[in-house]
Amino acid sequence: MARYTDAVCKLCRNEGVKLFLKGSRCFTTKCAIERRRYGPGQHGQARKKHSEYATQLREKQKVRRTYGLLEAQFSAFYKVASAQKKVPTGLKILQLCETRLDNIVYRSGLVPSRAQARQLISHGHFTVDGTKVYTPSIQLKPGQIVGVMERSKKTIKSIIEENPGSPPPAWMTADAEKLTASLVNPPSREELDQTIKEALIVEYYSRR
Ligand code: SF4
Repeated sequence: MARYTDAVCKLCRNEGVKLFLKGSRCFTTKCAIERRRYGPGQHGQARKKHSEYATQLREKQKVRRTYGLLEAQFSAFYKVASAQKKVPTGLKILQLCETRLDNIVYRSGLVPSRAQARQLISHGHFTVDGTKVYTPSIQLKPGQIVGVMERSKKTIKSIIEENPGSPPPAWMTADAEKLTASLVNPPSREELDQTIKEALIVEYYSRR
């Protein structure tokens, strides 16, 4: 699977907001956004006036990059979300991002970033309902238990000691002693980032 390999701090500077892609470094003064609050490159400090399309594109890119997804993965979420009628499309896109295995591992506080969660999952350090998994994109269902392979527990515990994560959100549970996590329910809109304007993302895809 292809993945983004350039400097991730550039992504934050491009969007003009912190996307928290580098774990604990994002909370220190070493954060690139804290040091240079303008876009990267020669024209990074130029004033930009965004068209309606550019505003929608930037919101889509911001969310896609926050979750570390490729365009094909993110647009597939839009297709799934727009095909169902139970949940508003924008909210469903965000729920699909949040209920991915790599995001659940990150939100549980077991690792400090989604990128690290993805790497550890693909190296076979995690289980779902007791079965070893290698796929960070697995969609978790409520009640499924994410665990750590016996041989990997020491590694994950040392990661937690070095980078204690934030407490898990209310829509999931996590046990730092047993190294387990579980989805209770997909998050409601109130439980998600209030700065995200998901309507812009829906508008972006629906005009294509
Ligand atoms: Fe973004 Fe984190 Fe880099 Fe700051 S340190 S620019 S929040 S990835």
